[in-house]
Amino acid sequence: MDYLKDPVVVLARDGRVLEVNTAFSELAKVDKQDIVSTDCRETEPLSSLWNSITGCILYRKEQSERITFGNMVLDASIIPIMSDDHVEHICIVLKDISSFVNLEKEIIRKNKELIITNTLSSTFISSDNLGSVFNELLEKVLMISDISIGWIVVREDDAFVLKSLSGASRDFIAKLEGGKLDFLYNDALKSSEPLYVLESSDTAVIDDLKKEGIVFLALMPLRVGIDIMGFLVLASRVEITLDFDFISLLSLIGNSLSVIAEKIRLFQETRRLAITDALTGLYNIRYFYDVLNTEMARTQRYSTPFSLVLFDIDDFKSLNDTYGHQAGDDVLRTVADILKYASRKTDTVARYGGEEFIALLPNTPKGEAFKLATRIKDAVEQAAMLGDERVKITLSGGVATFPEDAPDAKSLLNAADIAMYEAKAAGKKQICCYRKHGKSIQKTQ
Ligand code: GH3
Ligand code: MG
Ligand code: MG
Repeated sequence: MDYLKDPVVVLARDGRVLEVNTAFSELAKVDKQDIVSTDCRETEPLSSLWNSITGCILYRKEQSERITFGNMVLDASIIPIMSDDHVEHICIVLKDISSFVNLEKEIIRKNKELIITNTLSSTFISSDNLGSVFNELLEKVLMISDISIGWIVVREDDAFVLKSLSGASRDFIAKLEGGKLDFLYNDALKSSEPLYVLESSDTAVIDDLKKEGIVFLALMPLRVGIDIMGFLVLASRVEITLDFDFISLLSLIGNSLSVIAEKIRLFQETRRLAITDALTGLYNIRYFYDVLNTEMARTQRYSTPFSLVLFDIDDFKSLNDTYGHQAGDDVLRTVADILKYASRKTDTVARYGGEEFIALLPNTPKGEAFKLATRIKDAVEQAAMLGDERVKITLSGGVATFPEDAPDAKSLLNAADIAMYEAKAAGKKQICCYRKHGKSIQKTQ
């Protein structure tokens, strides 16, 4: 039997070892003469095959079993050697299939990797689903990782904004929204690890996690280049063993999410550029028209008026002529900043043309729009331009209100334009409100 390179053992029906080959004695690390005649149940790895050995005798059929021995995986064939009609001896052949098993594991892992990457990257990013893309991602991640609680936070202006959440109680959601767990993100940022994990001993000392029953928490940074755009957080109310497979799964998810985060950031940046005026950073006119049409449809539904204010810088040409075009650009930027600062969050302010700006004020009747426009006009008048107290800029403005002044976008813009030109004609530095019949009124000087 020694010429066989696989370990082989021959047993009697009662389990006594009759013969082993050299390969087996090397595998079991026993001398041949020490094992022969002993009970096979006294020697590993034979003892773990005892059920299959008795099965082989009972059913008179070959049995096979996969066992681990040390760091090896063995495939055991337990073959009956028949005499007449009964099993006389049992021959056991062991094959080392470790490398095959590793290969198999690797294929399964790669397959899983592909499924994860495909599943996550199939999350389509468009302007219509940008809001829901985080929900979709989270749902998929929870499904892949078989974890019950998860959320995604994104850094916006140095604050963490909750974008999506699943599986947590109302109380806990309120805490997250109130920023009570922001310190976790800051800790994870400081650690700069690809995976920041809190196990039960860590979660036990954080009251808000304890109350929610969370005993495991993993934070995965959403990386965009060297920046961290936010975190995917997975949490569990049952303990999770952080074995190699689980860590690989999480890091794989983390990597795939970072690729998507990069796509989201790029998409947002492209969209931002597409709707922004390059010189002033205000919205551009194309975007403004979109907002105007949307607001018009909304107003028709809810019948709350909205107003437009069109501003034009007075005598801007002569400012350019006196100080140069670059200085003119600086003034445009300063005026834009004042407009941004003085308008309300809900207002949309855009650069309408060269030295013209337009603001859409939702839910704002004419009188209120007039007051806001005047406030802006005054703020611009009071500001020092080009860092020189002596350089002053003034604005003329026209106000038109929907639906009272015009039935559609084009004629509403036209009405604001008429009111603005009346302000110019009346001596500039003032705001005029459009009136359907007769001259525009409510001038300020
Ligand atoms: P009014 O008081 O009647 O509005 O006079 P105005 O000089 O402001 O108006 P006009 O329409 O005659 O001139 C506008 C000027 O704005 C002309 C143009 O060179 C300048 N302008 C337009 N766009 C820009 C820009 O992006 N940068 C600079 N520096 N100037 C610009
Ligand atoms: Mg003009
Ligand atoms: Mg002008």
